[in-house]
Amino acid sequence: MARLSSRSYRAMDRARLGEREVARIAFDFRTQLRCLHAAHEEYKRTGLVKRFSDESQALVDMLCLELEVAPKHVFLRDRPRPHKRKGGRIVYELHGLCQSNGPVEVYTRTAAREQPVALKTYLNTLLHEWVHHWDFETFGTSIHCGGFYERVGQVYRPARDIVSQLTATTRRRTPS
Ligand SMILES: [Zn+2]
Repeated sequence: MARLSSRSYRAMDRARLGEREVARIAFDFRTQLRCLHAAHEEYKRTGLVKRFSDESQALVDMLCLELEVAPKHVFLRDRPRPHKRKGGRIVYELHGLCQSNGPVEVYTRTAAREQPVALKTYLNTLLHEWVHHWDFETFGTSIHCGGFYERVGQVYRPARDIVSQLTATTRRRTPS
């Protein structure tokens, strides 16, 4: 990565996603997350990743459109997260990545037990990688500065709250 001037760093640290745009997508976000939630349930049940992948792409398409950045291809890897162990313990896990000239990639199974990742964790990764894309489009580069995590929070927090509601509804409907 090219070295950043302190001026570019400050700009990246200060930048936020458009408040108005983020507020405007609330309704579409909810609709799309409902579809993603259903697709994730299907993935957990059947192990088939196609619908989960399609709904993830639809969510990213919506974000790119509404927040006015180029479309980005999403590629789900139905594999355990690449990881490193030390003394039997997992010390590093790769959740996903975003290349400026390639797709967003997300691993959909946990490293240790190879289970489908929980939806909130998955969304945190997907939205984290999408913010890298937003950064690449906006600044030509992306770094994990404080502002980066603020931008992730702007989209992750509402997503997490919606998913909490959806999960609670599913639990109430499931007979014990
Ligand atoms: Zn990152």
